[in-house]
Amino acid sequence: MTQPARPLSQLPVMGEPALQSYPAGTLYVVATPIGNVADITLRALHLLELADAVACEDTRNTSALFARFGLDKQMIAAHQHNEREVAEKIVARLHAGERIALVSDAGTPAVSDPGARIVDAVRNAGLRVIPLPGASAAIAALSASGLVNDQFHFVGFLPAKPKQRESALAELARMPATLVIYEAPHRIVDCVESLAATFPPGRQVVFARELTKMFEEIHRCPVSEALTWVKGDQHRQRGEFVVLVEGAPAETDAAEAEAERVLRILLEELPVKQAAALAAQISGGKKNALYEKALQIKSARDI
Ligand code: SAM
Repeated sequence: MTQPARPLSQLPVMGEPALQSYPAGTLYVVATPIGNVADITLRALHLLELADAVACEDTRNTSALFARFGLDKQMIAAHQHNEREVAEKIVARLHAGERIALVSDAGTPAVSDPGARIVDAVRNAGLRVIPLPGASAAIAALSASGLVNDQFHFVGFLPAKPKQRESALAELARMPATLVIYEAPHRIVDCVESLAATFPPGRQVVFARELTKMFEEIHRCPVSEALTWVKGDQHRQRGEFVVLVEGAPAETDAAEAEAERVLRILLEELPVKQAAALAAQISGGKKNALYEKALQIKSARDI
């Protein structure tokens, strides 16, 4: 028989959680949950209790999280538009011996979130920064993806404009590392269209949607089926997404990749036959193979 879960308040906290000191005059970078509030760490709760003030991206979101744990702290709004000014104030407070926690709305601060400038200013002032690790959507998605690769490349958010997005993706398509992309729900269809236009159809994609939340979904398919999957159910265009793309196979010939890059550029302006012939001339690649590739790219773009 399974034991009922113990409430958080009864979880054993080993000594001062756990045997690390929390010096004054230090900035603590504290990860918070990406959905499920129970993913807060015991160290985070301990430190947040101890902190003199909490610098946060949106005070309303952080207040809601703190209310769940009975925390009531002075908050300093620290978002992307005021990070530099706030950094100065935080440095002054740290010099006065305070402990300041830095959190973002969800996950790990400074990972596609504000915080890096504050950390930089604090370090430049010769003061200490201590991380309290915890949830991050990128790592959670990677860990459950089943994509076997020792390397990953954190892309974060892609450019919003299609041309810029596709040229960024064309560069990334040659990397052997698993790509980790953050995407907003209103752009997920555009993102997948760009993936289909720039990646070989057989490359595996993993959608990690609503991680740690009630409607969590992790789906893996080849690039060629990704758009059908996203459009197959309107719920799949809602919520929060991490999109992972399998890295380029190790045996990918650099010359072949270069020929494809040239071909993609030419296809922006020229018909398939002409683009393939010119790409072959420029890159030294095979004309027939490039013609086949051009047809593939064209049909993916026309979906
Ligand atoms: N700092 C955060 C972290 O450590 O993961 C990331 C913040 S970034 C502004 C927000 C993006 O993270 C979302 O657009 C989405 O791509 C991803 N994300 C955040 N929470 C998520 C979740 N529960 N499931 C899937 N993706 C999530």
